[in-house]
Amino acid sequence: MRFAGKTVVITGAASGIGKASVLRFASEGATVIAGDIDEKGGQELADASGGKVLFQRCDVTNVADIKALMDFAASHTGGIDTVFNNAGAGGDRAGIDEIEAEGWDFTMNLLLRSVAMGMRYAIPHMKGRRGASFVNTASIAALGAGYSPTAYAVAKMGVLHLSKVAAADLAKHNIRCNAICPGFIKTNIFTSAMEVPAEAKQMATAMIFEVAENAQPVKGGGNPEDIASMAAYLASDEARFITGTHFIVDGGITIGPRHSWDENDTGLFGAIEALAGPGAE
Ligand code: NAP
Repeated sequence: MRFAGKTVVITGAASGIGKASVLRFASEGATVIAGDIDEKGGQELADASGGKVLFQRCDVTNVADIKALMDFAASHTGGIDTVFNNAGAGGDRAGIDEIEAEGWDFTMNLLLRSVAMGMRYAIPHMKGRRGASFVNTASIAALGAGYSPTAYAVAKMGVLHLSKVAAADLAKHNIRCNAICPGFIKTNIFTSAMEVPAEAKQMATAMIFEVAENAQPVKGGGNPEDIASMAAYLASDEARFITGTHFIVDGGITIGPRHSWDENDTGLFGAIEALAGPGAE
């Protein structure tokens, strides 16, 4: 019960990482204020919680919605202890050679401005609360090319840097701030991002989850609960000495190219050895 008596706001709360985190924080005693654009999913979560979860519709591309979510949390519970700025989607998929300003701006507002404003409008309700902190969802896409579309990757890198410099701003209020870089986590984000039609969603999801099983050194793939565990740790007093940094939770997908950890993938060196023939040095 690390969060007994605490108020935790979570965005993107109706699905995937957000939903797993709502359940985790609530199970450890928090009152959770859940925000999402998915009203049906969010309300179902609240209805099933026995009063531990309150839902409010919040589109994080709309700054007024973000402020209203934070004010709602504070007016219902008296203040905010933790905000998990987590909502997100794939954003504009075009490369830098094709993307239009509108798609770029939308993606930045969805993934980066949302986090900045989530902090901006929660801070007045967090000052003076013991152990207050932010946890922001970035991505391994922030660490290099090839994990996501371009605009998404740039926005997530922004989340990492924002989490660092905001931690400096927030030191005077004794509020910590950290980010998480999830790897390949089995959620609906991929079918949503690829705009898979409803009738094909179930099959596409099963295929994507199968790929996720062996996409990294740790077998079985990443689950939303793996990220919820890190979010709960970072928000807890156990992480009281941690601020302005990020944690990669990816089953090792970023440790190196596939051939470095997969014995069935010979990679470039394997190809060279095969060319050189047996016994070559
Ligand atoms: P998810 O299962 O699709 O959950 C995201 C939730 O956010 C959904 O309920 C979605 O609603 C909601 N949402 C989308 N746009 C929103 C908006 N404008 N305002 C408020 N809510 C919005 O995806 P997830 O994988 O859990 O994603 C959570 C976070 O993790 C995102 O920031 C994502 O970028 C990040 N992440 C995920 C992975 C991964 O492999 N899954 C890896 C790295 C980072 P709808 O379903 O109606 O769209």
